[in-house]
Amino acid sequence: MATEHRTVIIVGGGPAGLPLTVVLGGWHPYYRGSDLFQERYPQLDTFLQTADHSLLGLDFPSIVQTGIQPADLFRLIHHPGMKFRSPDQIAYEFRKGEAIDYLLITQEKVGGLWNNVPRNLLTLSPGQWMEFGFYPLYQHFQEQGLNIDVNDLIIKHNLVNYYHTVPKRFEQLDHIHTGERVEEIRPHEKGFHLTTCDVGTETTHPYTCKYLIYAVGQRSIPRRLDVPGEDLPFVSRRYDHFDDYPGEHVLVVGGGRSADWAVTELHDAGRHVYYVMRQPFANHWRLISDSHHLPYYQRIAEIIESKSTRFDILYETHVKKMEENGRVTLTSKNREQTICVNHVILEIGAWSDYSLLQGFPDLQLVEKHDPYRFQVHQVSTHPHNYESRAISNLYPGGYLAEGIGLIVYAMHGTTYAIAGDILQKEGLL
Ligand SMILES: Cc1cc2nc3c(=O)[nH]c(=O)nc-3n(C[C@H](O)[C@H](O)[C@H](O)COP(=O)(O)OP(=O)(O)OC[C@H]3O[C@@H](n4cnc5c(N)ncnc54)[C@H](O)[C@@H]3O)c2cc1C
Repeated sequence: MATEHRTVIIVGGGPAGLPLTVVLGGWHPYYRGSDLFQERYPQLDTFLQTADHSLLGLDFPSIVQTGIQPADLFRLIHHPGMKFRSPDQIAYEFRKGEAIDYLLITQEKVGGLWNNVPRNLLTLSPGQWMEFGFYPLYQHFQEQGLNIDVNDLIIKHNLVNYYHTVPKRFEQLDHIHTGERVEEIRPHEKGFHLTTCDVGTETTHPYTCKYLIYAVGQRSIPRRLDVPGEDLPFVSRRYDHFDDYPGEHVLVVGGGRSADWAVTELHDAGRHVYYVMRQPFANHWRLISDSHHLPYYQRIAEIIESKSTRFDILYETHVKKMEENGRVTLTSKNREQTICVNHVILEIGAWSDYSLLQGFPDLQLVEKHDPYRFQVHQVSTHPHNYESRAISNLYPGGYLAEGIGLIVYAMHGTTYAIAGDILQKEGLL
């Protein structure tokens, strides 16, 4: 089969990879200023007023030398206030120019892990923090005839619909392959050689590219408990909706935000929930207390404080084994106990998969975590363009780049520094 060559290939179509399609597809940001931006960041406003070209052409190394990270600069231009007041506050606008030759390859629909989160899940952040600069959520809702406040938390289906709309809305459908999984990436004289496979088939495709944006997210390899019975049919690795768990007794193993969501919903749907985690009470309670602004965290606090008889929460506890008949053996502080359940749900997180990259120098991974549990191995990158220090022309997408905060609001600005760097290297600006 002939090898297809592209200038840029993006792997992964989540909130990190997807916006790069539109920007590489020719939609470039131009500074227009706004009253709010000028009032809050007058020095940046003065500096940006001098940019008579697209913001992708900024001198990013000099900007970093002044102590400003490109991702933060673009975040402030996009969100000069944390709250959305009106579209006029956004201090850049997008104009369509020349596209660069690129392809996005992703194994599921665009929108990344949001395709698979629980059906009723609400974001942790205001809806507008999940948006892309070239397509404010406010504009999307107006175009869809939806009356939704973009400062509210947003429910999964509204968010994923927003992401699904982007390729067609910005005429990038021809540059996006969904249902195709990248199996291996190797060095090549042109830059990178990729082997992909159509999901659910044996059909493979070879590609080469000069620049590679590696935006596979942090959920590529599910963690395992590594205990007997982990793969039995009554054990699920993902929670979607309480209707999927008709029996009365459900054990949830976790302790992070995904597990907290599942236990709260299952309890309120009338199930008897056993909630098991390795961490002590104090850590979990800190996460709950710090998240009290979120309605579902107020609810889990109420359930725990009410000492509901249908909610058994076991801290500093490990699962030892699971058996066919629903028996689960738990150990806590050298004490063993057995419970009988209809279902087990494992919400124990996952790791980013860097093993696809074969035959390259070591990526130099650094650990990043929030104050609770969520953690990612980030790739050591140059601060001005988010390019790997170890592998030239490889850009870890979104928060896989060193130092980037673990939410969309913090990572979206990397889009413009990465696209700008590639276009500058190609002499296209
Ligand atoms: C339960 C949960 C709730 C969250 N809530 C919020 C929130 O409210 N606000 C917020 O800002 N962030 C939140 N986050 C963080 C979340 O990770 C980001 O919102 C965002 O989805 C990360 O985007 P991403 O593109 O980096 O990764 P992902 O969304 O994971 O997208 C990566 C994509 O790459 C694909 N992929 C992986 N490997 C391959 C391969 N080999 N070949 C082809 N495709 C591949 C994946 O299948 C996926 O579609 C939450 C995370 C979780 C788990």
